[in-house]
Amino acid sequence: MKIENNNLGSLPIDMIIVIMKLLLSSGFEDFFNFLKALAQTQRMSAVIHLLEEFLVRDLYMPRILATQSDVTCFNRFVGIGENLRIYDAILYARSRDIICGFGNIDGHLTEVDLLAANGHFLSMVGKFILGILYKKESCSDITVEAIVCIYKHPHNRRYILSALTHMRDMKSCIKVSSTAKDVDINPTCIIHPKVANALFTYTRKPADDCLFCNIAAMLNVFMNTEE
Ligand SMILES: [Zn+2]
Repeated sequence: MKIENNNLGSLPIDMIIVIMKLLLSSGFEDFFNFLKALAQTQRMSAVIHLLEEFLVRDLYMPRILATQSDVTCFNRFVGIGENLRIYDAILYARSRDIICGFGNIDGHLTEVDLLAANGHFLSMVGKFILGILYKKESCSDITVEAIVCIYKHPHNRRYILSALTHMRDMKSCIKVSSTAKDVDINPTCIIHPKVANALFTYTRKPADDCLFCNIAAMLNVFMNTEE
């Protein structure tokens, strides 16, 4: 879609946000082109405000990144976010490299670890999932440390499902790229293989309090494709 920027500089920010939300409904490419046009009007304060309004983690949903063209634009957007040290953008970039097998997996995981160490909960979850599925760190120090961080986080039960959903959406969008690697496992608890996964619910059933049930639940949310 061709975006004319002659009159963008005079639009109120609330209207710009409404327009950008509408553009997202047809994919990321139009949204990105509009953002570029806005940046050309030199309303940088508006652009920065918009980056706060549209979190990176809310933009990598399969319905928004449906085509290779959308993904290409999104990768450029993420590159800008990396330069601005936006944690969501850095996590997406490193996760993409890990899932696609680009570069040094240990180096990428170390960078995700740094984000997690700075309190970025999505990176705590990402570090655990990516380490266990893509580095095969089933019992390593890094994954034990990661699951302890997730358990100790004061709001883990509140945020865990949305964090896992964001990681799953990220993987689905990255898979639009043909180089993404599939992980073919069926996670179950090693102690309660026949019990449904728990996911930090802690009801009165004994198995719900099992660490391994919860680990299996986390991996299953990540691996299930969005409907
Ligand atoms: Zn169990």
